[in-house]
Amino acid sequence: MKKSLWCIVLLSIISLGWGFLAHMEINRYAVYTLPAEMQGFYKKYIDFISENAVTPDRRKYVFDDEAPRHFIDLDKYPTVIKYKHWPKALEHYTLDTLTKYGIVPWHVQKVKYLLTKAFVEKNTNKILRLSADMGHYIADAHVPLHTSSNYNGQKTGQEGIHSFWETRLTELYSKTYRLNVGKANYIPDTQDAIWKAVFKTNKSLDSVLRFERQLNKKYTTEKKYVTERRNGKKVQVYSEEYSKAYHKALNGMVERQMRAAIKMTGDFWYTCWVDAGQPNLSKLKEPVWEKEEWEKVIPVKKLPVDGGD
Ligand SMILES: [Zn+2]
Repeated sequence: MKKSLWCIVLLSIISLGWGFLAHMEINRYAVYTLPAEMQGFYKKYIDFISENAVTPDRRKYVFDDEAPRHFIDLDKYPTVIKYKHWPKALEHYTLDTLTKYGIVPWHVQKVKYLLTKAFVEKNTNKILRLSADMGHYIADAHVPLHTSSNYNGQKTGQEGIHSFWETRLTELYSKTYRLNVGKANYIPDTQDAIWKAVFKTNKSLDSVLRFERQLNKKYTTEKKYVTERRNGKKVQVYSEEYSKAYHKALNGMVERQMRAAIKMTGDFWYTCWVDAGQPNLSKLKEPVWEKEEWEKVIPVKKLPVDGGD
């Protein structure tokens, strides 16, 4: 729960975890990667898939087992790659360890299995819910600070960098990003693909921290932060000048990670559909949302106003 706790404390300022806006954009753009046989169905429900890109973050406020699905502290799992198969991980690590250090790549693979099954069963509700979920977890796996125990720069005196990178920067600059990423491709080994993705994401962690540390030396606190009014409250946010300088130093990293997340989300949806035997999606029934079913996913009444991670 550490990251959601952090989120509640820090933001209040702005919602967290790629920012809600970025999560929604990632799911939305992933729809456009799909082949014609899938795109009609996904476009019909594009608002649902986009809006529910943030549902997994909201679930963390309600279900104890949700938080570890959003990150992996690779620095705490020195030999983790040997255990990328979930049953092997369970043999080697205690559930407490897995809960503490995160399980995002294992969970993506689990959702891959469930979404394929939903296509086989032609279960519209599940296809929609699991597609939205999958985009969220894949997106989180592309955030460098989601792959480290120093997830908010708290070990290097850079508290706040988590939301700075993934929320403040996308809030300011994502409108300028080119998010059309071409066509989805079939992934022969999805388990391998998501593990490679988290390790690749982790390679950017050093730059994420180092560039901010260098910049911090050049700015006074007065220039680094400004006070803004949000939801009727005064909050401190990184100034536009500081954000611009950091964004420039990152040299397109945030955009690259968003694009990679969009591409991989489309690839996974497509792969699930192919593995399920390419069911005809135009013949699926309309979804019927029973309150009981929805509440298993997210008890709406208990939702916080904002924020996730
Ligand atoms: Zn998340």
